[in-house]
Amino acid sequence: MNIILLGAPFSGKGTLARKIVEDFSLVQISTGDLFRENIKNGTEVGLLAKTYMDKGELVPDSVTISMLKQRIEKDDCKNGFILDGFPRTVPQAEELKNLTEIDCVIQLDVSFDEIRRRCLGRRTCSKCGEIYNTSTYNKTTCEKCGSPLTKRDDDNLETVNNRLEVYENMTAPLINFYADKLFVVKGADSPDETYKPVKKLLSEKF
Ligand code: AMP
Repeated sequence: MNIILLGAPFSGKGTLARKIVEDFSLVQISTGDLFRENIKNGTEVGLLAKTYMDKGELVPDSVTISMLKQRIEKDDCKNGFILDGFPRTVPQAEELKNLTEIDCVIQLDVSFDEIRRRCLGRRTCSKCGEIYNTSTYNKTTCEKCGSPLTKRDDDNLETVNNRLEVYENMTAPLINFYADKLFVVKGADSPDETYKPVKKLLSEKF
């Protein structure tokens, strides 16, 4: 089964994807993580992506699509995957149609006010990628692996406002694009509450 997680930044896509991975044998593919890995390794793609990411803009489709294509062609994707942060534009979705079949699109619906609140408190584990928020977790190390938590360069109010505008203009049209396979989930306060209807849906589909 191949799933797309659709939602604005900070809607909880990454957290939800991790929960799905724990219960179903799917691979999580986050284009944002792939770009950050490229930045860490100092690759050409990373250097280019950083100039867009720092401003909260989208990396050009051609670069993003070719990186995604290489990733989903790997062996571990054969049993299915969850796309977290891809597609983000209609041309990306059109291209994805040529690459693979998508079974289900889960849209996380969270208000922009809540998103701005979440933005400033997000912390990510530097090693395992676990996501926390300072409003519910006040330690500086990861509960799971003990590594230091870091704040992403693009988690600031100016960038998030820009990312929300980009989401409205470029990504929200995908809600119509995928209308026939869309499942809408209201983002709740706790990730476990948000996950409940998703787990029910996927258990029925698997
Ligand atoms: P994320 O970790 O999903 O919030 O992505 C962080 C940043 O990476 C975004 O603000 C974009 O600059 C870039 N990015 C991630 N996925 C895509 C995509 N599908 N298309 C274009 N840019 C992307």
